[in-house]
Amino acid sequence: MPNSPGGISLVEAAVCFHCQQALAGSTFQVSFHTATEDITLPLCVSCQSLRQEGQLPVELLVQQWLYSSGQRQDTGDPFRNLFVSLACLGCGSPLGALSTVAAGVAPLVLAESRRLPDGSTVVPCPRCRRTNVLQSQGGQLVAVRLW
Ligand SMILES: [Zn+2]
Ligand SMILES: [Zn+2]
Repeated sequence: MPNSPGGISLVEAAVCFHCQQALAGSTFQVSFHTATEDITLPLCVSCQSLRQEGQLPVELLVQQWLYSSGQRQDTGDPFRNLFVSLACLGCGSPLGALSTVAAGVAPLVLAESRRLPDGSTVVPCPRCRRTNVLQSQGGQLVAVRLW
Protein backbone atom coordinates (compact mmCIF):
# COMPACT_ATOMS: atom_id res chain seq x y z
CA MET A 1 0.00 0.00 0.00
CA PRO A 2 1.46 3.39 -0.97
CA ASN A 3 1.38 6.16 1.57
CA SER A 4 -1.22 8.84 1.11
CA PRO A 5 0.04 11.95 -0.73
CA GLY A 6 2.14 14.15 1.48
CA GLY A 7 2.16 11.56 4.23
CA ILE A 8 -1.09 12.88 5.67
CA SER A 9 -2.47 10.46 8.19
CA LEU A 10 -5.67 8.84 7.09
CA VAL A 11 -6.67 8.39 10.69
CA GLU A 12 -9.10 11.06 11.71
CA ALA A 13 -7.68 13.33 14.38
CA ALA A 14 -9.41 13.10 17.72
CA VAL A 15 -11.18 16.42 18.03
CA CYS A 16 -14.11 17.71 20.01
CA PHE A 17 -17.39 17.33 18.15
CA HIS A 18 -18.63 20.73 19.21
CA CYS A 19 -15.64 23.08 18.88
CA GLN A 20 -13.19 20.99 16.82
CA GLN A 21 -10.36 21.48 19.30
CA ALA A 22 -8.06 18.56 20.04
CA LEU A 23 -9.48 16.32 22.72
CA ALA A 24 -6.13 16.30 24.54
CA GLY A 25 -6.99 13.14 26.40
CA SER A 26 -10.54 14.12 27.30
CA THR A 27 -12.78 11.08 27.66
CA PHE A 28 -15.99 13.08 27.97
CA GLN A 29 -18.68 12.35 25.45
CA VAL A 30 -22.37 12.51 24.86
CA SER A 31 -24.18 9.42 23.64
CA PHE A 32 -27.57 8.94 22.14
CA HIS A 33 -29.44 6.33 20.21
CA THR A 34 -31.71 6.53 17.24
CA ALA A 35 -33.83 3.71 15.87
CA THR A 36 -30.91 2.58 13.72
CA GLU A 37 -27.73 4.04 15.19
CA ASP A 38 -25.76 4.43 18.40
CA ILE A 39 -24.06 7.82 18.31
CA THR A 40 -21.19 8.91 20.51
CA LEU A 41 -19.85 12.45 20.20
CA PRO A 42 -16.49 13.20 21.86
CA LEU A 43 -16.24 16.43 23.83
CA CYS A 44 -13.19 18.34 25.02
CA VAL A 45 -12.76 19.37 28.65
CA SER A 46 -13.75 22.99 28.07
CA CYS A 47 -16.99 22.05 26.30
CA GLN A 48 -17.73 19.59 29.09
CA SER A 49 -17.22 22.34 31.66
CA LEU A 50 -19.75 24.42 29.72
CA ARG A 51 -22.16 21.50 30.03
CA GLN A 52 -21.47 21.32 33.77
CA GLU A 53 -22.46 24.97 34.04
CA GLY A 54 -25.58 24.44 32.00
CA GLN A 55 -24.30 26.54 29.10
CA LEU A 56 -24.10 23.81 26.49
CA PRO A 57 -27.41 21.92 26.40
CA VAL A 58 -27.38 18.41 25.00
CA GLU A 59 -30.22 19.58 22.77
CA LEU A 60 -27.75 21.86 21.00
CA LEU A 61 -25.31 18.99 20.45
CA VAL A 62 -28.09 16.82 19.09
CA GLN A 63 -29.15 19.59 16.71
CA GLN A 64 -25.53 20.05 15.62
CA TRP A 65 -25.30 16.33 14.93
CA LEU A 66 -28.59 16.28 13.03
CA TYR A 67 -27.35 19.15 10.91
CA SER A 68 -23.91 17.66 10.25
CA SER A 69 -25.39 14.29 9.34
CA GLY A 70 -27.72 15.94 6.84
CA GLN A 71 -30.94 15.00 8.54
CA ARG A 72 -33.80 17.37 8.09
CA GLN A 73 -35.33 18.74 11.22
CA ASP A 74 -39.02 18.95 10.53
CA THR A 75 -40.55 18.91 13.96
CA GLY A 76 -38.49 21.38 15.95
CA ASP A 77 -38.06 18.69 18.58
CA PRO A 78 -34.58 17.17 18.27
CA PHE A 79 -35.41 14.47 20.82
CA ARG A 80 -38.38 13.12 18.94
CA ASN A 81 -36.66 10.16 17.33
CA LEU A 82 -33.72 9.58 19.60
CA PHE A 83 -32.87 8.73 23.14
CA VAL A 84 -30.05 10.43 25.02
CA SER A 85 -27.97 8.29 27.39
CA LEU A 86 -28.09 9.76 30.86
CA ALA A 87 -24.55 10.20 32.16
CA CYS A 88 -23.01 12.16 35.02
CA LEU A 89 -21.76 15.55 33.83
CA GLY A 90 -18.94 15.40 36.34
CA CYS A 91 -17.31 12.06 35.52
CA GLY A 92 -19.26 10.62 32.60
CA SER A 93 -20.41 7.47 34.34
CA PRO A 94 -23.95 6.33 33.58
CA LEU A 95 -26.72 7.48 35.86
CA GLY A 96 -28.26 4.09 35.34
CA ALA A 97 -31.83 3.21 36.06
CA LEU A 98 -33.10 6.71 35.50
CA SER A 99 -32.52 6.52 31.78
CA THR A 100 -35.01 3.71 31.32
CA VAL A 101 -37.99 5.23 33.04
CA ALA A 102 -40.34 8.08 32.36
CA ALA A 103 -39.47 11.41 33.89
CA GLY A 104 -42.17 11.42 36.50
CA VAL A 105 -41.14 8.03 37.84
CA ALA A 106 -37.51 8.87 38.49
CA PRO A 107 -37.80 9.75 42.18
CA LEU A 108 -39.32 6.35 42.85
CA VAL A 109 -36.45 4.54 41.19
CA LEU A 110 -33.51 6.38 42.70
CA ALA A 111 -34.05 6.86 46.38
CA GLU A 112 -31.43 9.58 46.54
CA SER A 113 -32.95 11.75 43.84
CA ARG A 114 -35.40 14.47 44.72
CA ARG A 115 -37.63 16.95 42.99
CA LEU A 116 -37.01 20.66 43.06
CA PRO A 117 -39.83 23.22 43.09
CA ASP A 118 -39.06 24.16 39.49
CA GLY A 119 -39.78 20.61 38.35
CA SER A 120 -36.21 19.50 37.81
CA THR A 121 -34.75 16.46 39.54
CA VAL A 122 -31.42 16.31 41.33
CA VAL A 123 -29.51 13.09 41.71
CA PRO A 124 -26.04 12.41 43.11
CA CYS A 125 -23.66 10.46 40.91
CA PRO A 126 -22.94 7.03 42.43
CA ARG A 127 -19.29 7.34 41.43
CA CYS A 128 -18.09 10.92 41.95
CA ARG A 129 -20.94 12.05 44.24
CA ARG A 130 -21.44 15.29 42.36
CA THR A 131 -25.06 16.28 42.04
CA ASN A 132 -26.57 16.36 38.58
CA VAL A 133 -29.63 18.45 37.80
CA LEU A 134 -31.99 16.62 35.46
CA GLN A 135 -34.82 18.05 33.46
CA SER A 136 -37.46 16.50 31.32
CA GLN A 137 -36.99 17.45 27.70
CA GLY A 138 -39.02 15.97 24.90
CA GLY A 139 -40.32 13.25 27.20
CA GLN A 140 -36.98 12.09 28.52
CA LEU A 141 -34.69 13.06 31.37
CA VAL A 142 -31.45 14.77 30.44
CA ALA A 143 -28.70 16.10 32.68
CA VAL A 144 -28.59 19.87 32.26
CA ARG A 145 -25.90 20.94 34.72
CA LEU A 146 -24.11 20.13 37.92
CA TRP A 147 -25.58 21.35 41.17
ZN1 LIG B 1 -14.92 21.35 22.61
ZN1 LIG C 1 -20.03 11.32 38.39
